[in-house]
Amino acid sequence: LGYFGGIGGSSKSGVLIKGANYLEALTNLHTVVFDKTGTLTKGVFRVTDVKPSNGFTKQEVLKYAAIAEANSNHPIAKSILEAYEGNIDQDKIEKYEEISGHGIKAVYDGKEISAGNDRLLHRESIVHENCVGEGTVVYIAVDGTFAGYITIADEIKEDAVKALTELKKLGVKRTLMLTGDDHSVAKKVASKLSLDAFFANLLPEDKVSKVEELMKELPAKAKLAFVGDGINDAPVITRADVGVAMGGLGSDAAIEAADVVIMDDAPSKLATAVGVARHTRKIII
Ligand code: ADP
Ligand code: MG
Repeated sequence: LGYFGGIGGSSKSGVLIKGANYLEALTNLHTVVFDKTGTLTKGVFRVTDVKPSNGFTKQEVLKYAAIAEANSNHPIAKSILEAYEGNIDQDKIEKYEEISGHGIKAVYDGKEISAGNDRLLHRESIVHENCVGEGTVVYIAVDGTFAGYITIADEIKEDAVKALTELKKLGVKRTLMLTGDDHSVAKKVASKLSLDAFFANLLPEDKVSKVEELMKELPAKAKLAFVGDGINDAPVITRADVGVAMGGLGSDAAIEAADVVIMDDAPSKLATAVGVARHTRKIII
């Protein structure tokens, strides 16, 4: 009965804990691992710069990017579609492929378009400059030629600062961030939030093996939580001792895989959940 009280009480405060086991695990929380985009940052990108190359115009770079992103739900895609003001003829999109952790490949009007990160262009053996922008860089190539890049920026959630302060106050020993984004972007976020460590340029499967590694390093009884939001995050959410999903913007797959669901995308609710778990345990004992 006490445990159910805990679960019900937590849902009123905006967290849903899916079982007594996780209440117990939360009381022994040692390490918290966060995804970056959409978890610690708002996941709402804005185009801040377009840099054409090889004779392409800014307008063309944006157009090809928008065509490639037209059918993607990724936050990056939304920002590019917002910045592009022209029309896209959906009938001319002959092929479309979203490669997780890389970006998009599409064929439009007979032209082969790639839009994604450095890894995607390497995979396609497309010669390009190495671009470091103020934010996340999206490279665009048309028929194997580098056409330019778009810089997009995201913001850290104010609540993320609170989350990290409160978790440390509650005795969490280690806080980390795993991201598929570039090292330079990850470094900025990690230092602003004073995280203990971060790992960048990870594919979804790399996130799983990193979390497995971290779990092996835990002292006896100590638990690890992973907090994420994307479809990509479902495997790692499943693997962690306590898998936490953002319920607001989060994908259905992530929410379903999660042991703890944060209803309003505020990462500090994980600290709330730890508080609830400890309180509930006191009542039971
Ligand atoms: P995160 O781990 O930060 O949540 P993802 O795993 O969703 O990020 O994506 C990792 C990286 O893959 C992005 O930073 C981006 O460089 C690239 N990427 C993924 N999807 C897209 C897309 N639709 N368009 C362009 N780039 C993408
Ligand atoms: Mg994400």
